[in-house]
Amino acid sequence: MTQIHEMNAVALAEKIRTKELSAQAVLEHFLRRIETHDSELNCFLSLNDKNHAEAEAIDSCISAGEDPGILAGVPVAIKDNIDVEGMRTTCGSRFLENFVAPFDATVVKRLKKAGAVIIGKTNLDEFAMGSSTENSAFGPTRNPWDKNRIPGGSSGGSAAAVAARLCPVSLGSDTGGSIRQPASFCGVLGVKPTYGRVSRYGLVAFGSSLDQVGPFTNSAHDAARVTGVLAGSCDLDSTAANVEVPDYEAGLDLGLNGLRIGVPKEFMAEGIDESVRNRIQESIDLMKEAGAKIVEVSLPHTKYAIPVYYIVATSEASSNLARYDGVGYGRRQEDTEDIMDMFMKSRLHGFGDEVKRRIMLGTYCLSSGYYDAYYDKAQRVRTLIRQDFEQAFQNCDVIVGPTAPTPPFKLGEKTDDPLTMYLADILTASLNLAGMPGMSTPAGFIENRNSRLPVGLQVIAAPFREDMIFRVAAAHEQLPALTKEAPIL
Ligand code: GLN
Repeated sequence: MTQIHEMNAVALAEKIRTKELSAQAVLEHFLRRIETHDSELNCFLSLNDKNHAEAEAIDSCISAGEDPGILAGVPVAIKDNIDVEGMRTTCGSRFLENFVAPFDATVVKRLKKAGAVIIGKTNLDEFAMGSSTENSAFGPTRNPWDKNRIPGGSSGGSAAAVAARLCPVSLGSDTGGSIRQPASFCGVLGVKPTYGRVSRYGLVAFGSSLDQVGPFTNSAHDAARVTGVLAGSCDLDSTAANVEVPDYEAGLDLGLNGLRIGVPKEFMAEGIDESVRNRIQESIDLMKEAGAKIVEVSLPHTKYAIPVYYIVATSEASSNLARYDGVGYGRRQEDTEDIMDMFMKSRLHGFGDEVKRRIMLGTYCLSSGYYDAYYDKAQRVRTLIRQDFEQAFQNCDVIVGPTAPTPPFKLGEKTDDPLTMYLADILTASLNLAGMPGMSTPAGFIENRNSRLPVGLQVIAAPFREDMIFRVAAAHEQLPALTKEAPIL
């Protein structure tokens, strides 16, 4: 018999709604898995002490004959930079170690309204700055496929939790790749919606012109359903666009026949690990056999994505993180000489090294003498990157390629060299700069000596065409070579 943790969210919600399973039993099952496996993986930073009450409320709602919502009783984990009322939002930082959120983020409110149960909060690189989850103040998360390797980042806890089936769904945030890259490294699906598709209210700001919230799931159907729940305009976030949300589940069976799939030559070039390239090429060949038309496209400014991203993201971060001064909330250094000393020491001891590095880089890029040379120039190249995508979409319906240039790396392998760590975002950051939606979907494995390492296929669509991404992911997961498996814990 299929075990509870082997079921996807859509199936679980259905079984709960029809009373074949209770929301409480489902929650218990996942909590037991967390208890057994999370001491080793370190996906969770805290559990929701109201999760039992939330599950019970769903069961009573069903017993009373009311509509429990399309995610009835589905346990969802939330990245710890997204607010859940009454729970801590640490952002993986000592600075916010004891900060308790006074309200729900809009995405959390929407999940609850759809019947989801918030199971707990997940680990991340401090303030979402990183690609490996090693920058968390609360220890790294490990990759369930190979515990000596990192799960990717910054949403590593959310990705690893879904991969290890400690919960069926989780939320992450993606500023330069933080949903897609860990999804790829953990062998799950991860969606970065169009900038403006999902409200950022209650997401702790990193790079405000880049940040988006999105889900991790184990199936395309789940990804479509959860994105549909999250998407839409919001009175509390003026950047959440007033664009109608289509029924993402309706187009999942359309298949690949006649679809024009663009492959950017820059995404399959040198610098991309050969084993990754081979796996992705196999996926492309299979999609061609399934009726898709493969066209070569070019994104010539991709080569500038890393420098442009690290100027824009650090500039916005240096300004966003100015609010952590030890006055209103968060860590305050005691026994200081005066208020300046208090500001400085609170920041000195509250932030980790990578966060400080970003604040310094960003402050430098925005300083009066260098603004034109760095920030302004980066914004101009950002426009060129967006135009590349617009051009490419003249000739294709979706774009595919690898999500990350390498398989998941070993813990500690890149911590001493921030620049190599930054290169992990080379294929993802350009989408944030251009505002495009993208997803990473599992594309098989690389056989390693002691373990199998997942590879992710990145699927990119034109703005607000997430429906295309789900259609491709749904068809892709049916391809014969891609039988899904779960890691052995
Ligand atoms: N790894 C990238 C960074 O360190 C992206 C982070 C993210 O998307 N939050 O900035």
